[in-house]
Amino acid sequence: MNEIVNCPRCNELYAKNAFRDVCPKCSRSEEELYQKAYTFLRKRENRAATMERLVEVTGATEGMIHNWIRKGRLQPAQFPNLGYPCDRCGTIIQKGKLCASCVEEIEKGLQKHEREQAFSQVREEQHQQTYLGRRKD
Ligand SMILES: [Zn+2]
Ligand SMILES: [Zn+2]
Repeated sequence: MNEIVNCPRCNELYAKNAFRDVCPKCSRSEEELYQKAYTFLRKRENRAATMERLVEVTGATEGMIHNWIRKGRLQPAQFPNLGYPCDRCGTIIQKGKLCASCVEEIEKGLQKHEREQAFSQVREEQHQQTYLGRRKD
């Protein structure tokens, strides 16, 4: 059963599905903008276009362009000046969900958490041993 929701772009009601974040009308107009952006970027002299330039030329929003890159419809490897924001801090990145420094921070955080868990486990075992030791007396 498709859920009936308001299109986030034009506010019209439509049946939401897994492939569409917006109503058919908006998705069609977004598709046109995508084709425009794609055609523009395919020209060698436009490969190094910035986000600002692309927005200006196509009339697409930054959000749309971010989405196309995220979904792999525009390959940042070919367009060195394009990217999308890191989920955590908003730095422009070209792959994954997070920028390198956020990944590093999260990994550090996880390691710390693991160390703490291991430590509290050891303490618990020691505590149990002490307890059992006492019971033997
Ligand atoms: Zn719409
Ligand atoms: Zn980040």
